[in-house]
Amino acid sequence: MKRQIIAIAAGILLISGNAFAHFAVEGSLSDIESFIQEIKQVRQKSKVFDALISRINKFQRENKNFTMAIKVGRKIPPMIAGGDTQIIWLNKENSALNTNLGFIEMHLTKLEYAIDLDDVEKFPSLELDNLTGKYKLPDGVPEWAISREAILAHEIAELFDAYKNSYDYRKNHAVAVDIENEVRKEFGQPGIRGDSEDTTIRMESGRVATGTRIDIGQQHTVFIETLGNRDIVKIYYDPE
Ligand SMILES: [Zn+2]
Repeated sequence: MKRQIIAIAAGILLISGNAFAHFAVEGSLSDIESFIQEIKQVRQKSKVFDALISRINKFQRENKNFTMAIKVGRKIPPMIAGGDTQIIWLNKENSALNTNLGFIEMHLTKLEYAIDLDDVEKFPSLELDNLTGKYKLPDGVPEWAISREAILAHEIAELFDAYKNSYDYRKNHAVAVDIENEVRKEFGQPGIRGDSEDTTIRMESGRVATGTRIDIGQQHTVFIETLGNRDIVKIYYDPE
């Protein structure tokens, strides 16, 4: 059973045309397809992201035993919240995630990493502007917002650093923030993504919301409202 599921996942990866060759991706077939499509699209849009995947591929070619495993799912409950809403780190001995999501256990290495597609999809995606031929965020979203492309670059960079070096959240996250800022720069976005903190804020309406506040260039705030199991409800820009 275990082998069968992994073989199906590998088959999907093959069909995808090596967009993502050296990752063991686990999840339902539709979630794996969505994830791979996202990765392919971001590679096409972002040279920074494309270079990151190329670096991972190169490292894998030079280190034959190196494999990164990612679980993809939706409504993933938190186990060990590393500080990022859309990712979950597990210790090897903690296999509760496998049970909750019906995943087949696959302890390839010391790490497991899960990406919640529902959360990733809450971030606005860069769109090609036919007038200028450049990518921009959708109308109504400030130009300093965090793009889906930047978030995916963050997650993959964080994962790669942890697998390649060692799991150390602070270091892995610092590497990931650097890549995220490279993506911002690539698309001409103002302000660097700064620190984040879990907090509550009072919205203009008087309602108190729980979530994560991320500083942008010490001028703006991205507030990611979360509910229950740290699922993202909505992203607010300068809500206070
Ligand atoms: Zn991070």
